[in-house]
Amino acid sequence: MRRTFAYLRTGFSGLNINGINELTARHVSSVCWNCQKPGKNMICGDCGSLQDVDNNTNYFELLNFPTKFELQASELTQRFRQLQARVHPDKYSNKTTREQTNSADWSSLINKAYKTLAAPVERGQYMLQLEGEQMPQDNSALNTAFLMAMMERNEEVEEADDSKALDQLYAQIVQELADKANKLTAQFETNDLAAVKQTLVEMKYLLSIQNSIKKKQQQLMSNVA
Ligand SMILES: [Zn+2]
Repeated sequence: MRRTFAYLRTGFSGLNINGINELTARHVSSVCWNCQKPGKNMICGDCGSLQDVDNNTNYFELLNFPTKFELQASELTQRFRQLQARVHPDKYSNKTTREQTNSADWSSLINKAYKTLAAPVERGQYMLQLEGEQMPQDNSALNTAFLMAMMERNEEVEEADDSKALDQLYAQIVQELADKANKLTAQFETNDLAAVKQTLVEMKYLLSIQNSIKKKQQQLMSNVA
């Protein structure tokens, strides 16, 4: 009777330990799939195997930046290229199937992270998402004055009939987008997320006007040709 009880106890605790190990492996993926050594880097520090992609990887951490809105675009591009070189599929063409898959997966995650962080509006939206916040689905964040100004802008673009006028409108938008990006830096620093949302919606408006200017410029060019 006593032996049976002892067996049950070890049996039970053994099960528990396995359960915990499984959980840890799933949530932290802290062990190298190849050499079983701990570590959560992209490339195992012990055996050099390319690890499985963790799709929850923070884009800022992936590209080695602090989670801040302000970042140096040239520095971002440089780190992106270095990181892409480390996981480039050519480097893994002679390796295991698992590493070939991982190389393609990392490559696409790094691309996605770079595109997101490189575009200020995308970067701002991503930071909101990290805070558990979402962009408003309507225009309620905008004030009437801004909407009126945007309508006027659209009319100006429609009425502009030479490339010089369009260039001027384009330059104006570029400047305004830069000003708004500066505003975002300050708003993120004070964690004023309501203001962040408003600025992001305004920037999206400016981007859509910028797009219609581009389209019109292309039309003008094809008319000339
Ligand atoms: Zn390893």
